[in-house]
Amino acid sequence: MAHGAAHAHTRRTATEPHYRLRCQGCDALFEDDGFLLECPNRHEPALVVAEYRNTRFEPDAGVEGVFRYRRWLPGTRVLAGAGSGATYRSERLNRVLGLPGLWVAFNGYWPERGATLGTATFKELEVWPVLSRIPRPREQVLVVASAGNTAAAFARACSLNTIPCLIILPVAGAACLRFPDALHPCVKIVSLTGCADYSDAIALANRVARVDGFVAEGGVKNIAKREGLGTTVLNAVETIGRIPDYYFQSIGSGAGAIAVYDATMRLTRDGRFGRRPPRLVLSQNQPFVPVHRSWRAHRRELVEIDDEVGKNQIRQITAHVLSNRRPAYSVRGGVYDVLTGSGGDTRTADNLETLQAKRLFEEVEGIDIDPAGAVALATLIKTARYGGIDRRALILLNITGGGRRRQHRGTKLRAARVALEIDGKELQRDETLDRVVGLFR
Ligand SMILES: [Zn+2]
Repeated sequence: MAHGAAHAHTRRTATEPHYRLRCQGCDALFEDDGFLLECPNRHEPALVVAEYRNTRFEPDAGVEGVFRYRRWLPGTRVLAGAGSGATYRSERLNRVLGLPGLWVAFNGYWPERGATLGTATFKELEVWPVLSRIPRPREQVLVVASAGNTAAAFARACSLNTIPCLIILPVAGAACLRFPDALHPCVKIVSLTGCADYSDAIALANRVARVDGFVAEGGVKNIAKREGLGTTVLNAVETIGRIPDYYFQSIGSGAGAIAVYDATMRLTRDGRFGRRPPRLVLSQNQPFVPVHRSWRAHRRELVEIDDEVGKNQIRQITAHVLSNRRPAYSVRGGVYDVLTGSGGDTRTADNLETLQAKRLFEEVEGIDIDPAGAVALATLIKTARYGGIDRRALILLNITGGGRRRQHRGTKLRAARVALEIDGKELQRDETLDRVVGLFR
């Protein structure tokens, strides 16, 4: 990494970087070395944000997919294979819901609408900027912990661009790993069985990332990841012409919601699209709702959830991708701050409400959606029904995954090969770490 920093320095003299990083804890400014995840100064945990030289919102009309917004993305390279979601308004859906100002950000696979995310979820938006930001991505192994969708997106992108990648996920998420073609062998998948969940995957990934030659993808702390997710609202504002009044999304880590807030704040400084960020209405799937409980209790600290209770709740929710037990809630610039800054609120939906919303969307729009997207829709329906929203307001609903069945119709998908299975009881052993690292030696 020291070598990388020196190299970056010689390059900098040739071209000014198009962005710098700013710590939201102490306001320190940094040049990006492509790896920085947090501020080195000692203070309470804080996220870094990007400040771009170009303060005007200028999509690159010559580029399709997420790199269309590359002037407001960290990283420098444009990679092959990047798709995008699509923002659209459906008269039929809006009539059924009685919300004429509703727009859908469909982040999945629905080519007829212009949504071309090959893994059918918005997690794919984060992958391309993350890979674009790493200075020489083929020299280390990128380590990714995931509940499922992020894994699928990294696996596909790294396979397409032959970037070595280790993916660690709980066995429940392995169902997401289905692709039209076999993955390149530079991508290795480790599946955690037994009682292990997403948090266990994160813990193991952190241990592996400390080994020489491995580098952590970084999760919510990775600015490239958040900025990629934020392109959802850039795409929406490019389509609609102004910043929405409300933004509905279901959350796990909260990275997407934080990103949308940061991106709209940047748009407010441009000035042509509105002066305020949207009110964020963030939702979780009952009974696992730690962010909701913390926010409604007016707490900056996340409520404590006993390990066993948490795992038991996670087993009960239908939207498994929302099962993050350590969301970016309290951290400076995190979910608590963006809810506060936007005048936002939290909502919940249970499994039955989620299923009903899923069916409604499929009947009206003719496309399948993931449970996580249905959680957000269910909370929008309830909020509208009980008068919690001005019905003429401009609302953006993020359908964070959809079109899997649509994709199966056109393409035969096959399950990716799992390189190693680890039982939850073996996680702490040293030899477990050796076996994982050994996949790349
Ligand atoms: Zn700082």
